[in-house]
Amino acid sequence: MFNKKTIRDIDVKGKKVLVRVDFNVPLNDGAVGDDTRIRGALPTINYLLEQGAAVILCSHLGRPKGKADPKYSLKPVAEYLQKLVPNKVYFASDCINEPAEKGVEALKPGEILVLENTRYYDAEEKNDMAFAEKLANLADLYVNDAFGTAHRAHASTEGVTHYKSGVAGFLLEKEIQYLSGAVEDPKRPFVAILGGAKISDKIGVIKNLLNKADKVLIGGGMANTFFKAQGVEMADSLVQDEALETAKEILAAASDKLVLPVDVVIADKFENDAATKEIPVEDVPAGWRILDIGPKTIEAYSKLVAGAGTVVWNGPMGVFELPNFAKGTFGVAKAVADSNAISIIGGGDSVAAIQESGLADKVTHISTGGGASLEMLEGIVLPGVAALEDK
Ligand code: AMP
Repeated sequence: MFNKKTIRDIDVKGKKVLVRVDFNVPLNDGAVGDDTRIRGALPTINYLLEQGAAVILCSHLGRPKGKADPKYSLKPVAEYLQKLVPNKVYFASDCINEPAEKGVEALKPGEILVLENTRYYDAEEKNDMAFAEKLANLADLYVNDAFGTAHRAHASTEGVTHYKSGVAGFLLEKEIQYLSGAVEDPKRPFVAILGGAKISDKIGVIKNLLNKADKVLIGGGMANTFFKAQGVEMADSLVQDEALETAKEILAAASDKLVLPVDVVIADKFENDAATKEIPVEDVPAGWRILDIGPKTIEAYSKLVAGAGTVVWNGPMGVFELPNFAKGTFGVAKAVADSNAISIIGGGDSVAAIQESGLADKVTHISTGGGASLEMLEGIVLPGVAALEDK
């Protein structure tokens, strides 16, 4: 299923290996917040070190807009990494040029060098070949383990492979195996749950999953656009009028697979302390808005999830940032965790919900990439993966 070479297929002993990792972690006053992505890269880093490689790590962090900005420095991340591994971790204050070249020259097998943020150069996102060549020339071999950025053809994810052939790291391999496995060869019934604010962001995903899945359950603001397309009064609910035609087409093509909420929680204002009612979808009064799915819907969705062989979930069922409208999202999180299905969760909000629930260890796979996981569900081949060597 995963037809790219991985670090298992190459001899790295005594080699300097450039690894594109996803160290785009939240920083709070210069301290690493959630370290999931750093820990996610450890299997690859540790394997390479054990095999006798010198490991050069590069990544972007945030959006420094093409110039050096200490707010987005990877130095705190390098320091954090040092606490997680016994091997020596060095830091280079530039990802190319003298600081990087000198650091690489001095680097010995079993040691790590973290390069400064690749997005300090706008050449990174432009996939500039001269910049990519400089990065590639730092090392003997290239490894991509940055799933979260694999949907972007940037210099450090795609451009480098024009100068040094690349293979996949363990995290990239694992993400692709789970996500493409779920979509291309699912244990059935395959139930997908999609939520979030807008359908326009997820039209490609909805269409692809309607082809591949047995049921696609819709929640969140996204459902409202489908309801309006069916002629149901949405009052002050969030609706994407420009997507109504698309919603109609999707409904006409796939109404047997597409499942919409039967009841909703409405509010008289967009605030946590708003007055609320649980009502059938058809009864939203003027001046009110839908902010969550209702209890009957949670129950119906939970039943479908309980009977599934594979479940994929992306996007919240309501405005879950407001505690009074988070029941739908947490209800679905619990249903996914309770099911015996192969369960895969992607997207920042759903991942946050499952982690807050304390149920993350009951899920088969939690993706480290929001945008990248959505593109996988859409059936798109990620450029950072396509660029790697075939098996
Ligand atoms: P997305 O970025 O498209 O995945 O959407 C996530 C956002 O959708 C979250 O911030 C939710 O608060 C918001 N959202 C979910 N349901 C609703 C709703 N019924 N009305 C307005 N916003 C919603």
